[in-house]
Amino acid sequence: MLPSFSIVRPTSLDEALSQLAAGDARIHGGGTDLLGCLHDGVFATPKVVSLARVQELRGISRTADGGLRIGALTTISELIANGDVAERYRALHQAAQVVASPQLRNQGTVAGNLCQKPRCWYYRGEFHCLRKGGEKCFAYEGENQYHCIFGGDLCYIVHPSDTAPALAALGAVCRVSGPSSTRSVAVDALHVGPSENPQRETVLEPDEILTEIVLPPAAAGTRSSYRKVRARASWNFALAGVAMALRFDGSMVTGARVFLSGAAPVPWRATGVEQAIVGRALDAATIAAAAEAAIAGAEPLSKNGYKLPLFQGIITDELEKIAARSA
Ligand SMILES: Cc1cc2nc3c(=O)[nH]c(=O)nc-3n(C[C@H](O)[C@H](O)[C@H](O)COP(=O)(O)OP(=O)(O)OC[C@H]3O[C@@H](n4cnc5c(N)ncnc54)[C@H](O)[C@@H]3O)c2cc1C
Repeated sequence: MLPSFSIVRPTSLDEALSQLAAGDARIHGGGTDLLGCLHDGVFATPKVVSLARVQELRGISRTADGGLRIGALTTISELIANGDVAERYRALHQAAQVVASPQLRNQGTVAGNLCQKPRCWYYRGEFHCLRKGGEKCFAYEGENQYHCIFGGDLCYIVHPSDTAPALAALGAVCRVSGPSSTRSVAVDALHVGPSENPQRETVLEPDEILTEIVLPPAAAGTRSSYRKVRARASWNFALAGVAMALRFDGSMVTGARVFLSGAAPVPWRATGVEQAIVGRALDAATIAAAAEAAIAGAEPLSKNGYKLPLFQGIITDELEKIAARSA
């Protein structure tokens, strides 16, 4: 049952920030994750601040330099329907299409997607795990088939967002407003790994609001993609995924940003893959080296060793496909 809490619906960003400044409140974007957490007792709050009526957080528009500004309340369906996203930021477009189900994409926002809580069944269940303030991660010696192979330290979740690795690969930046200042946080610096703090997912403070996401202009020669493998083809979280934004000069890769999903407690930068392909054409030997580099240093748990060949396979496949594309 959903516990009782008060809900406020400010109509401006300033009003929303002052509601949060009073303390002990949670932000509601589309509510698809927040309400599930409250319903399941993952955490509790006396007050929910709904952003739904804050019009300045809506909309997608081009920036003066040719990039794209995506308001925090943009739904995943609106991302998919946007022509600029489809044409110029293919990785984000592909990632948005594989988020959850049509109903959830209609309701869920892009900021909520970046800030959602992990899907670990111990965290979501009746286990007082480390992330909830307990003493241990139950997944480490338990049912860990969906957990991480990189970056696990005390807690072994995987980051659940599909748009986060795509936005990180594309070099997106979040704008964040707090009670007295605003700041920018690159999407690849937004999330907090367990070795830093196993009880928080992002660097955002409870009184801060992610207001918009800004994508840089799509540079000439850039090809991007997002690939996700899940246990069933209808809605489900990633078992393994890869977001890539590669820059080409002819057949040569001149720049690369590669992030894995379903791999680590944060979108995981695959620097080994980047190093294996930059300065090279994507021939069979380079792709094989990149696939090998993707799993170097992985530390699979007792039940998720299957992820290693899965990551190798999707990286091979995606690099072959991206090499064959013209844009
Ligand atoms: C059955 C199911 C399947 C799903 N499958 C997927 C999937 O395959 N891939 C995927 O990526 N996600 C998936 N999701 C997760 C999620 O519902 C969506 O990602 C959605 O986009 C979350 O957005 P929301 O606006 O509903 O978030 P909310 O529930 O409103 O918020 C989520 C969190 O973000 C915080 N938050 C929201 N907006 C802001 C803001 N502007 N500033 C700061 N903090 C904010 C909230 O306080 C809360 O902690 C799934 C969810 C469900 C229930």
